[in-house]
Amino acid sequence: MARSVLVTGGNRGIGLAIARAFEAQGDKVAVTHRGSGTPDGLFGVKCDVTDSDAVAAAFAEVEQAHGPVEVLVSNAGITDDTLLLRMSEEQFTRVVDTNLTAAFRVTKAATRSMLRKRWGRLIYVSSVVAMLGSEGQANYAASKSGLIGFARSTARELGSRNITANVVAPGFVKTDMTASLPEQRTEAILGNIPLRRYAEAEEIASAVTFLASDGAAYVTGAVIPVDGGLGMGH
Ligand code: NDP
Repeated sequence: MARSVLVTGGNRGIGLAIARAFEAQGDKVAVTHRGSGTPDGLFGVKCDVTDSDAVAAAFAEVEQAHGPVEVLVSNAGITDDTLLLRMSEEQFTRVVDTNLTAAFRVTKAATRSMLRKRWGRLIYVSSVVAMLGSEGQANYAASKSGLIGFARSTARELGSRNITANVVAPGFVKTDMTASLPEQRTEAILGNIPLRRYAEAEEIASAVTFLASDGAAYVTGAVIPVDGGLGMGH
């Protein structure tokens, strides 16, 4: 049965690959964008996930078009890298607001109808950096590991209503986010990845669609690494 799926930041990068994977399964897929427009064939809603009113309006639009959101993929995220000594409080809180507090906002918006329906799938896109830490990414790592505690608490609170909450932790993926890494850093990263390559966004999407599938009905509070072995299960 076609499900109502919402992917935040589904207009490009990993989010778009996730949206396309659900679309290919025949689901009704909505994506958020911040003005770039909607990719062909998808239902787009304009939404900045740091704005609670915009999130509420986006959910209302998706609900009207596709019915209540049954599968939520909280994927939108940013980096703003610099060493701790140079990092401003604004740089820290902006990244946490976009990557973590926004996950809280969209989860709150999605769970009301999931609770009524007694079914729901909450999936959060974290990062291998959540477990390993990363120089110059104290803000990003904090936000991404925060998602794990958040998802696990949600899994405990909502499990009795048949709502699962899981995390996918990608390693390095070929997208705009990693395109600007200097070549020297890229080589150093590749040297630490057993599979010796970056992931394709589609490889992240397959873990996400698995978590939303009937086959994953008994998986909740899990963190699934898709990182070519970089984190070795941490
Ligand atoms: P991109 O930079 O390619 O895309 C980021 C997406 O997030 C865009 O759709 C962007 O929308 C959206 N976004 C950012 N801020 C907001 C906001 N305030 N409101 C709404 N949407 C927003 O990143 P990736 O596709 O690479 O990353 C997707 C997720 O995967 C992120 O959470 C990232 O942290 C995570 N990740 C990425 C890895 C990688 O190697 N690429 C590795 C591990 C995790 P817009 O087009 O409007 O800017």
